[in-house]
Amino acid sequence: MSVFEHREFDGHEQVVFCHDSASGLKAIIAIHNTNRGPSLGGCRMWPYASGAEALTDALRLSRGMTYKSALAGLAYGGGKSVIIGDPRRDKSEALFRAMGCYVDSLGGRYTVAEDVGISVPDVEIMAQESAHVAGITSGGAGDPSPATAYGVYMGIKAAARHRLGVDSLRGLRVAVQGVGHVGYYLCRHLAAEGAELIVADIAEDTLDRAVREFDARAMAPERIAAAAVDVYAPCALGAVINDASLPDLQAKIVAGSANNQLAEARHGEALRQRGILYAPDYVINAGGIINISHEGSGYDATKAFAHVAKIHDTLLEIFHRADAQKVATSEAADRLAEERFRKPVEKATQAA
Ligand code: NAD
Repeated sequence: MSVFEHREFDGHEQVVFCHDSASGLKAIIAIHNTNRGPSLGGCRMWPYASGAEALTDALRLSRGMTYKSALAGLAYGGGKSVIIGDPRRDKSEALFRAMGCYVDSLGGRYTVAEDVGISVPDVEIMAQESAHVAGITSGGAGDPSPATAYGVYMGIKAAARHRLGVDSLRGLRVAVQGVGHVGYYLCRHLAAEGAELIVADIAEDTLDRAVREFDARAMAPERIAAAAVDVYAPCALGAVINDASLPDLQAKIVAGSANNQLAEARHGEALRQRGILYAPDYVINAGGIINISHEGSGYDATKAFAHVAKIHDTLLEIFHRADAQKVATSEAADRLAEERFRKPVEKATQAA
């Protein structure tokens, strides 16, 4: 089977298979769409069972980046890369240098950053071979989590306004599932505004820190999705909205940072049927990539965070469209993204 017949193939512009025998690198770079600009997306390192599994991930994730960048208002297209290997065992300088060379060979059509299994030091090695690397510490925006959390916070405010008719989160009950990098910073924003926090995490020290610092109530990880709250903020795992969890949801809003929150696309409609407002994950969690798009010698955090704050208005537009079209918010988001990337843009719309 060629890539063109692959079930995840969606008119991708370019798919590059990379092999370097000296370092053992086996990687795939997928560029989905560059109508809005050169592609940008993280590199994932994962012990894929086969090349076919890696290809599936590269095709699916690069497509997702096109939608995410379009709705974040970035002058970037969608791309993603995957390295086949175990991040705990197979990392080496030679491997990341070889990856950097492959990124560089695309001449800027793809810019790489961190993703699952890849951290800042890894992309910094790639940066020694290519200028098309984002998410590095020197001259870069660094850890994307604070920006992601700020975007989620602004998204929760938009959802509260639309669903509950309130402009302040004071007194609202918010259940945060996972208080790691993003969840922790999110709790800080929510607590500062006077929200009541319920938190869960499988890591005891991480949980204790949130309880202590934000006067939060701890709940068992397996119970938090069904907590009696206004907002359920998944900030740990994907697929948390599924056939098993849906009947027990009590929240009026689902809005958090986790990727792929809907187990299947149809669960977006199921949430709508239950009157639960869903902030589509790839819209609300775009703060990190928006921040990265501001990288460069003149990185200005104030300007970058002002751009992240626009997630609020983008979500309001999606909520209004979904209401008007009587469709799930997840579907309204996809349609709006497609409007934005299907035709080439004349000029960069990045960073207001
Ligand atoms: P993280 O690993 O720092 O935090 C995740 C936390 O969830 C950890 O503390 C972990 O112990 C906890 N956890 C794991 N399983 C759990 C469970 N069953 N119940 C409760 N807690 C559980 O990751 P992160 O960077 O904070 O990212 C969180 C989510 O947001 C992920 O889905 C990630 O893909 C997504 N995301 C993150 C960013 C970013 O900037 N970091 C950007 C976009 C999307």
